[in-house]
Amino acid sequence: MDTSRSAALFERARRLIPGGVNSPVRAFRSVGGTPRFIRRGEGCRMTDADGNSYIDYIGSWGPLILGHCFAPVVEAVREALGHGSSFGAPTEREVELAELITRAVPSIEMVRLVNSGTEATMSALRLARGFTGRTLTVKFEGCYHGHVDSLLVKAGSGVATLGISGTAGVPEEFARTTIALPYNSVPALEAAFEKHGAQIAAVIVEPVVGNMGCVPPQPGFLEAMRELCTRHGALLIFDEVMTGFRLALGGAQQLYGIRPDLTTLGKIIGGGLPIAAYGGRADIMQHVAPAGNVYQAGTLSGNPCAVAAGIAVLRYLMDHPEIYSQIDAAAARICQAAPAGVTVQRVGSMFTFFFTDRPVRSWEDAATCNTERYAAFFHHLLERGVYFPPSQFEAAFVSAAHDADAIEETVQAIRSFSC
Ligand SMILES: *Cc1c(COP(=O)(O)O)cnc(C)c1O
Repeated sequence: MDTSRSAALFERARRLIPGGVNSPVRAFRSVGGTPRFIRRGEGCRMTDADGNSYIDYIGSWGPLILGHCFAPVVEAVREALGHGSSFGAPTEREVELAELITRAVPSIEMVRLVNSGTEATMSALRLARGFTGRTLTVKFEGCYHGHVDSLLVKAGSGVATLGISGTAGVPEEFARTTIALPYNSVPALEAAFEKHGAQIAAVIVEPVVGNMGCVPPQPGFLEAMRELCTRHGALLIFDEVMTGFRLALGGAQQLYGIRPDLTTLGKIIGGGLPIAAYGGRADIMQHVAPAGNVYQAGTLSGNPCAVAAGIAVLRYLMDHPEIYSQIDAAAARICQAAPAGVTVQRVGSMFTFFFTDRPVRSWEDAATCNTERYAAFFHHLLERGVYFPPSQFEAAFVSAAHDADAIEETVQAIRSFSC
């Protein structure tokens, strides 16, 4: 496979952009080799600068549940752009998107649009502190909530992939406001509340983790979290930036039947354009400025093009509920092809091949993976035109654009790998 153009671009990029990329995991650091510079995408496939084609299982790291260049999204963005790219004044579309979001996710009674998942979690956390008058946050090791200062403690995603502490540049005072606990441990959660209950503003969690690879909650874990938060007056924040509209229209909270106080959304709600949101109980959201005194703002928030893309995606998902069983089945078919000795974990259309022989229930389990074997597996697939995440600690995604041919090609590529 010729990758000379990507290699030359990477050379140029590294002189001007730290590590040659605008987000760390794109650099292939943990798997080695040349990051592919992508020129275009269509459906489930994308083409790099050298003309190589790949079946895409990253989907822009989650957003593209309907694939690349999905016609209703392209059309909606074109139409919106023709009327002006930004106003800094409210628009009808924002109300429409808020209506769609609150209909899809009933625990969200009111919602505020922002530009990235990081902004959503940062704002939700500030709101939780402003509402409760408390300082501490509980998070879980291996969960990633964007690059918010206090949430980089024991974080997943690129922080885990690069094996860095993640808290360089974060004042110790901020890091100390975070209590990081093992995912899926109810006893650890009980102990934390026992000790700090009256100071905990919020528990923030990926209800299904994607950012240390796909790790589902054990039965009872989310239920216990909900109960402890209620009992101690802490807010429960579901970070559904990845799982929202992915595992079901109503996200993981619909799938597991848990009602959080606040929810963060991102990725899919922008259909590939930069948009995210946080929302939840109206009595809490009323504390956000200008209704209340917790400040949060954004020059480009509710951007017309991004909102138009979001509306197009959510409408399509609402009108085509059959998509969920279709992408679940496609992901299941791929997972069945896994090599022996690999632990496959899947929830709906997100999954990970963990190169370990034990179930992965926490970061401690994930850390036992043989990342070198994962790297070999990744390159084996990439050479065959199948683009899996360039890290053991990221989830792969199937979109509605992955047709039977693409799935079969993928299965063959996986089967030809010997562990
Ligand atoms: C991607 C992600 C974020 C961060 O979103 P950005 O748009 O990259 O800032 C936060 N939380 C979760 C669960 C995510 O998967």
